[in-house]
Amino acid sequence: MRINKSPWIHQLDQERKTTVLKNDLDTDIAIVGAGIAGVSTAFFTLKYTQERVVLLDQGKLAHGATGHNAGQVVARFERPLREIEKEFGFENTKDALQSLHSAWLLIEEMYEDAKLGIVFSHTEGNIGFSNLYQVLLALQDNEIEILSGLVHTKFFVSDNAPFLKDIPKIYQNLYKIVPQSEILKKMETEDTSFYALYSDQAACMNSALFCQEVVLYLLKKYPERFLLFENTRINKVVLTTNHALLDAEKHTINASKVILCTNGFENFEIFNKGGLEINKNFHHSVQGTVGYMSAYIEKMNKMPTVIAYHTEDTDPSKDSSTYFYLTRRPSENHEKKDNLICVGGPEIDIDDRAEYLRDYEYPDEIPAKIDQFIKKEYDSDPNHKIDYEFTWHGLMGYTPNRIRLIGTEPKNPVLLYNLGCNGIGIIPSVYGGRRISKILAGERLRPSIFDPKG
Ligand SMILES: Cc1cc2nc3c(=O)[nH]c(=O)nc-3n(C[C@H](O)[C@H](O)[C@H](O)COP(=O)(O)OP(=O)(O)OC[C@H]3O[C@@H](n4cnc5c(N)ncnc54)[C@H](O)[C@@H]3O)c2cc1C
Repeated sequence: MRINKSPWIHQLDQERKTTVLKNDLDTDIAIVGAGIAGVSTAFFTLKYTQERVVLLDQGKLAHGATGHNAGQVVARFERPLREIEKEFGFENTKDALQSLHSAWLLIEEMYEDAKLGIVFSHTEGNIGFSNLYQVLLALQDNEIEILSGLVHTKFFVSDNAPFLKDIPKIYQNLYKIVPQSEILKKMETEDTSFYALYSDQAACMNSALFCQEVVLYLLKKYPERFLLFENTRINKVVLTTNHALLDAEKHTINASKVILCTNGFENFEIFNKGGLEINKNFHHSVQGTVGYMSAYIEKMNKMPTVIAYHTEDTDPSKDSSTYFYLTRRPSENHEKKDNLICVGGPEIDIDDRAEYLRDYEYPDEIPAKIDQFIKKEYDSDPNHKIDYEFTWHGLMGYTPNRIRLIGTEPKNPVLLYNLGCNGIGIIPSVYGGRRISKILAGERLRPSIFDPKG
């Protein structure tokens, strides 16, 4: 039997002391959820406002999705851009893309301010495609990216692609024709069923370690304005017209504003005495998907990389992904020069998110599926028996339109959100943190696709 053991949590300081809320408390801003969304929201709020901030988590810091992901930093949406454009228009889609990309600088700002010494590996994010349908969807999206001013993306199609002649002429300026060997080299595979490749800016990071280090910095930098309470579950939130009461079992927190950074899985009631009933549907409509991953260690003889493999079976327009993805980065064990290879792909949708428990064992059949993928695409040496040091799962939540919610609750401005985790949540969470800090500072922002709806 395997347990849920994530390499990211493994690297955290296991000796760090946690503090539980032991008395009632007044604050300006209460942030519920201490994953990368809550930590980024705290960072930018403390930096750009004078507010007092309390950060709360029912468990330990960064032990949610932030401690159970694939470590890929990419500025992408998990929905075809042309669909987002259809729903929100081109200008809003362009703004949203540029907003996500602004998070590259925000992460840099956090690293610099906190003087972080932890690894952030810049690399390329490569996605390989097998058929015309996948290529056309990706080219349409790439066109929107280029029109939005994102000039660093690249698209290659193999000179022997069976569908080369079928790609409409209108797309011909969007891609370069190259020998297939060039595509396979970037994908680090010998599988000749991949005929095209999209490449953009990417990085690999341990987002849990990042949160731990940022929080240690914030506690030191703002001793008068910042408090962190772990193992402190919020059971209920009562909103009035100008403040919020948070029920933390034996104690109550009185805050001027409350920001939910709960990943959409808070499982508590919100009572809005300051206005109409808050639409609880969205809380209940966040779809839960459990993602499974395995990782092993290999000698550090290759550079960091981020690769996704869209095989014949992958339908990128469908909600649930049917592709494998691989992250390779230094293992953060400074004595040994090792790379950590993380592979994910298998997913299971669950009806009731409350059913998910982090302690659930790791199903035995998953490593076999991951092994099959690795042997086919990445390490075909039959003599190399891979020993999975880490096997883990995490809960992803999808809002109905697969876009993160960032902003003020229309029915009561005392409540704000930076949530709706999905398979790509690191960059959106950091951007969300900065956007929330601007709202709290009273800046007037242009409407965006991330705004909560009434
Ligand atoms: C298998 C997997 C692979 C992924 N791979 C990637 C990837 O490669 N790249 C990427 O960008 N994203 C990836 N993601 C998504 C990414 O990890 C998340 O989008 C991101 O970590 C979300 O951060 P968060 O702070 O919103 O949520 P979380 O990290 O889940 O934090 C929410 C916190 O809220 C707390 N909380 C909830 N309810 C309460 C309550 N009532 N009281 C107090 N506290 C509460 C929880 O304990 C939790 O700590 C992946 C996710 C999974 C599961």
